[in-house]
Amino acid sequence: MITFEELGLDARLVQAVTELGYVNPTQIQEKAIPVLLSGTKDFIGLAQTGTGKTAAFGLPLLHIINAENRYPQALIVCPTRELCMQIVNEVELFKKHVKGVSVVAVYGGASIGLQIRDLKRGVQIVVATPGRLIDLIERKAIDLGQIKYVVLDEADEMLNMGFKDDIEFILQNTPQRESTWLFSATMPPEIRKVSKKYMNEPFEVTVGKVNSGNKNIDHQYYITSAQHRYETLKRLIDFNPGIYGIIFTRTKVDAQDIAEKLTREGYDIDALHGDLTQAQRDKVMGEFRDKTLQLLIATDVAARGIDVQGITHVINYELPDDIEVYTHRSGRTGRAGNTGICMSIVHARETFKLKAIEKLIQSTFNRVDIPTGKDVCRKQFYAVMDKLLNTDITHGDYDTYLPMLEEKFADVSKEDILKRLAAVEFDRFLKYYENAEDLNLRDGGRQKTREFGAERGSNSGRERVRFEPRGERQERGSYGGNNGATIGYARLFVNLGTKDGFYKASFLQFILDMSDLKKEVLGKIDMKDMNSWVEVEQGASHQMIRCLDGKNYKGRRIRMNDANSR
Ligand code: AMP
Repeated sequence: MITFEELGLDARLVQAVTELGYVNPTQIQEKAIPVLLSGTKDFIGLAQTGTGKTAAFGLPLLHIINAENRYPQALIVCPTRELCMQIVNEVELFKKHVKGVSVVAVYGGASIGLQIRDLKRGVQIVVATPGRLIDLIERKAIDLGQIKYVVLDEADEMLNMGFKDDIEFILQNTPQRESTWLFSATMPPEIRKVSKKYMNEPFEVTVGKVNSGNKNIDHQYYITSAQHRYETLKRLIDFNPGIYGIIFTRTKVDAQDIAEKLTREGYDIDALHGDLTQAQRDKVMGEFRDKTLQLLIATDVAARGIDVQGITHVINYELPDDIEVYTHRSGRTGRAGNTGICMSIVHARETFKLKAIEKLIQSTFNRVDIPTGKDVCRKQFYAVMDKLLNTDITHGDYDTYLPMLEEKFADVSKEDILKRLAAVEFDRFLKYYENAEDLNLRDGGRQKTREFGAERGSNSGRERVRFEPRGERQERGSYGGNNGATIGYARLFVNLGTKDGFYKASFLQFILDMSDLKKEVLGKIDMKDMNSWVEVEQGASHQMIRCLDGKNYKGRRIRMNDANSR
């Protein structure tokens, strides 16, 4: 077996690891350290946590940085604050006998002022989470100009958490980078892409078996019609009584509306979106993290970087426009070896997207029926009964109350007590789901509706209605002959203009923010004092109208509609 000395490490580092009780290098250390000591070779290490990755990059970094130069030379980027602190702690141990080397951790949720002060003292190694690092770059509080080595640790997790653009930004802002070392447990195509773009013939090492995607996640989809999306969401929540989950919407308006509606209906939910102040955001996140809040509903941007353990379900209220976003969303569950379920509510027209996503996540989707009202009731009933049976009665002084209870229930049978208990806990569901309709859109473009109390599979009381997807042709037809509009675009009228204090850029930003659409969907813009006309790609125009029409701007009601239909 090879030793740490034989890997070519500095004697002071060998001494430190020996004192830590390391006898031989782990597999990843044995393969990585000799390559990384050159400092000039790009490297990809595919290894799970717990394989000794931190020492695999930490020891070579300590070996090759110049302790005499007190500016950042190495940057380790990792997904979470916890990992950040863990890496710093380990590197501190490794550098025990190396004088003059400083390592500092910068991560969100802690005082940026103190971190800036630490950086100013002069450090060689910075360990950072992407968001905070970008904040520091933008404040010009960190100098990456002389960074030679960049380590991306748990790259797949960083991408899952939506940090892809941030990572690219960081890599673009390290002009003197001589080598990039990427560590990841899995190798999804997104990471391949990043490595192709920013790395030069990386030396690749795989330790153990590499999963191509997170096999701990069960990807499920439920097909329903657009008007049943909200009902389906409710049913999925009700069918999973112990759910601790995040629901994703495409727009902040949807996130807010759905949160308000569900709260009114008694659900334990709050929304996270871009319009919240930092304090409101922290409050919502704090409650969710403490599990005092059971459900969080968020837009992709707002949920970026959320790292909460133990999430049981992710629900896609709608599939994201950009399929890569799916991996970020589903990656919020099934973490740290736990299993998780990612449920997508899908319209029949969107099923083509599932194929593309399957390719991306290298996993298959399972189509699952939307539970019937009866399914939900049964599930809730068992949950209540399990809760009852599992309640710990060994600790309270319940014996004191027993005589009183016995007296009170003297004439009530055990069966009656159980029924009453079920009714108290359960009434809401029974009443609500008594006549619940089937929300599934069945294959062959046919929809079953109104299954009045009928068990699935029976035909009694069922009315079958032809399902007519609103196809491409029809959509095009409705905008066909659009006066003056570029082909493929709808021309929308909106009662906002320069008199409202808008310039073209701020106006575009406003309508894109409101509708959560990308600027690529826009065509020609014609702004006047009081009104404007905006060309929007036909596929996106409904979303724009839905998100703007009827909303308020500075106390005035926005009116937006298809200019042709006016
Ligand atoms: P990591 O994968 O870096 O999180 O490391 C997992 C654990 O293995 C940590 O507690 C390390 O201290 C420990 N470890 C790393 N390398 C070795 C080694 N060569 N021998 C024994 N333990 C190690």
